[in-house]
Amino acid sequence: MTHADAATPTPTGDEGLMEKIVNLCKRRGFVFPSAEIYGGFRSTYDYGPLGVNMLRNVKNAWWRSMVQLRDDVVGLDAAILSPPAVWEASGHLKNFSDPLVDCLKCHSRWRADKIDGVCPNCGSTEFTESRAFNLMFKTHAGPLENEGAVAYLRPETAQGMFVNFMNVLQTTRKKPPFGIAQVGKSFRNEITPQNFVFRTREFEQMEMEYFVPPAEADQWFEYWLAERFSWYLDLGIPREKIRLRHHEKDELSHYSTATADVEFLFPWGWDELEGIANRTDYDLRAHSEASGERLEYFDQASGERYFPFVIEPAAGATRTMMAFLLAAYDEDQVGGEARTVLHLDWRIAPTQVAVLPLSKKETLEPSAREVLGMLQPHFFCDYDVTQSIGRRYRRQDEVGTPWCVTVDFDSLEDRAVTVRDRDTTEQVRVPIDGLVSELRRRSGQAG
Ligand code: ATP
Repeated sequence: MTHADAATPTPTGDEGLMEKIVNLCKRRGFVFPSAEIYGGFRSTYDYGPLGVNMLRNVKNAWWRSMVQLRDDVVGLDAAILSPPAVWEASGHLKNFSDPLVDCLKCHSRWRADKIDGVCPNCGSTEFTESRAFNLMFKTHAGPLENEGAVAYLRPETAQGMFVNFMNVLQTTRKKPPFGIAQVGKSFRNEITPQNFVFRTREFEQMEMEYFVPPAEADQWFEYWLAERFSWYLDLGIPREKIRLRHHEKDELSHYSTATADVEFLFPWGWDELEGIANRTDYDLRAHSEASGERLEYFDQASGERYFPFVIEPAAGATRTMMAFLLAAYDEDQVGGEARTVLHLDWRIAPTQVAVLPLSKKETLEPSAREVLGMLQPHFFCDYDVTQSIGRRYRRQDEVGTPWCVTVDFDSLEDRAVTVRDRDTTEQVRVPIDGLVSELRRRSGQAG
């Protein structure tokens, strides 16, 4: 194998980047339009074999940093369907709406705060008065479609944490400051879903409610801004593509006294990845009043009873995965040949190691399968015997696989394989018995 030439980066502007990502996602099995054989369904998407791995990795990286590596945060997985009482108390039935306008000329419908007074469809500037359009999906639980059977699909995961506040407090013996984290699907009947998986009606969130003594709320708000910001940097978002933006007073949600967004520089400009809010004691008080249960913390040491304040970092998993793809995309030259490469951090790459027998000859298969079996418990692996080795490297580069392991005829003699690095394209020979520890070392894990 001779193509160990260093990669020469060539700058890629943002022109056409979205289109390239959308095409790559479809062509390589990250994201498919939903119900495509029936013409697709209203901006919903399905995650294919690579996308599902990558999305899982994003969620796992979040869970690891927010729950696994901390002793002050516990997890929860609450139901998606919930009764109107929850959303009545939380204020969502009344307030969770966007301003809807109809274009008077072409009759298309838009979210008034997103179009600058000009119809994106026909250019008209004449609209109906704006009216509040509630974003929650309403359905019926059970066989009767009457008012008593109304249920809602949750528009955020957060309320699951508030209604379970006492259950978690009593079963874990945690005391403020402590958090409850949840990852899962949320649903919003968005007026104009757009920009691929950036805004969809069905999406995944990663949210954590951090309950603190009220006097400490400001300090924990600052703490979580810094913590969450560094999570994106650590996973490879370049510093110049990410910023924090504090909300103006008139932008705040009905429950918040301070909010800042983590924003990413998307091809269309800065836009939100995550909102970090001081939700005060709004939700716990509201659910206490509505349910009659006292959702307070009783501090035995001081004899004090109080409603904790809540600091909430709320991120979108699907939106974040898209930002990682956009940030990682690059086109460069290897040995005079153009290649597309995703410089993904190994922790979120959908395939972390590809095992590639040099030839289809059956003599290589037992060794290649042995290597695959050694790696699979530690990494998401792919096994590919089709096409030339150079083509296979390119295919792996294009989906961001950090390492390719090639098993060749010498491997049968020297029990060693070639490890190729995606970013440098450097190739080194590594003994099969030391392969797992070599890759664990390269990925920054213990040997
Ligand atoms: P926006 O102003 O973009 O509608 P929001 O401020 O209402 O979003 P939050 O309620 O703060 O969003 O939700 C937290 C996170 O959930 C967002 O930062 C985003 O990453 C994600 N999210 C919200 N709505 C959607 C959606 N329709 N599609 C994909 N992700 C979403």
